Amino acid sequence: MNEYDSDRIKNAIDAEPTDDPKKADIIIVNTCAIREKADQKAFSSLGKYKSIKTNNPDTIVGISGCVAQLYGNKLLKKIPHLDFVLGTRAIPKLPEIISKIERDKRRTVETSYDLEELFDVEPYHKEGRVTAFVSVQQGCNKRCSYCIVPQVRGDEVNRPLNDILKETTNLVNKGVREITFIGQTVNSWKENGYKFGDLIRAAGDIEDLERIRFTTSYPRDITKRMIDAMKDVPQVCHHLHLPVQSGSNTVLSNMKRTYTREWYVDTILRLKDAVPDITISTDIIIGFPGETHQDFEETMSLMKEIEFESSYSFKFSPRPGTVAAEYAEEKTVQADIASARLSELQAFQKDITESKNLSRVGHIEEVLVEGESRNDPDFFSGRTDHNRILNFKGTKDLVGKTVKVKVTEGLLNSLRGELVV
Ligand code: SAM
Repeated sequence: MNEYDSDRIKNAIDAEPTDDPKKADIIIVNTCAIREKADQKAFSSLGKYKSIKTNNPDTIVGISGCVAQLYGNKLLKKIPHLDFVLGTRAIPKLPEIISKIERDKRRTVETSYDLEELFDVEPYHKEGRVTAFVSVQQGCNKRCSYCIVPQVRGDEVNRPLNDILKETTNLVNKGVREITFIGQTVNSWKENGYKFGDLIRAAGDIEDLERIRFTTSYPRDITKRMIDAMKDVPQVCHHLHLPVQSGSNTVLSNMKRTYTREWYVDTILRLKDAVPDITISTDIIIGFPGETHQDFEETMSLMKEIEFESSYSFKFSPRPGTVAAEYAEEKTVQADIASARLSELQAFQKDITESKNLSRVGHIEEVLVEGESRNDPDFFSGRTDHNRILNFKGTKDLVGKTVKVKVTEGLLNSLRGELVV
């Protein structure tokens, strides 16, 4: 989501990106407030640009995203070298804000939610890129007790079907072959009687679109209509990111996740029934207030039962204004206990991911080639249908093509292989 917003920001002001902040006319720190660590990172990044502003007062320094939305005006008071604060829904207003600052040298805060042009600015698209995100939804209507998203991104707003298809088609015409639809709870998307399954089917009709992914799905919004579409539309990749957060029903209920462990497991079975080779990844929060040893054991038993392809796991972080932050005061899980649980879970996941990657050795995978591998220019990189990164020796002309690669090595974070000719 943040990467997508950063690309929209680049496009909104028609910016030429630079890696050297000293050469920049405008520096914008796009932020995330999901966990305290991310929010502190935003402040330390801004601190780094103080000397640039001191040496060149004409450089415009701004903050955007969730931290900007959360603290608004307070940021201008706290950070004297900051010129503007741009809320999560205000990207279309950016050109106006910049010209106002250039003209009047007036510091500005724009965090209003009632902007009609919410989806107006499409993201910057780097020529030659073969994958792209398309936003289908902003904000969130769920009220998970730990989550700051509804506060900093507002209620759910679904983008009209035709706009989504138009942006997707434009990207495909520019050479994109894989689209990832994004939304906080992407599969709750609905518009004018259409549901998420209908969106997938409609996207499946776009000529030359080879792959469709979407994230993040909310377990309770997985419907038969969606599963049927995933089964029927051949472009849909066989991987789903489905955050479960905990394996304990007590914790799930305190998190206000609206499903039980049994319901989640049954949903996975339904998905596997329809798409037998589907791989599932997840998010887990460890040390949610009141999490007992037994609750944690239930999370571990779920990890063992499902054997997720991969998982992102986080220590609970109390966020201002959330319900969980209030009861965290009485029921905090001691930091050392939470750390030990997190390490245990991550060690388990590492073994599972590694063995799943190893089990691919000898298989032939279809890979959409995205570009040169980061570490070696002779190697090219892409993802398999199941979302595994696969590196192999190749040539530049393969970028954008779907090729067959035989897996020769399974590593922790990727696969290696040889092109099948
Ligand atoms: N909208 C997505 C959903 O509901 O699954 C979540 C997006 S959030 C950016 C990604 C992950 O951050 C969540 O799935 C959750 O595991 C984690 N997260 C959110 N709030 C958190 C908090 N207060 N403390 C720790 N982890 C948190």
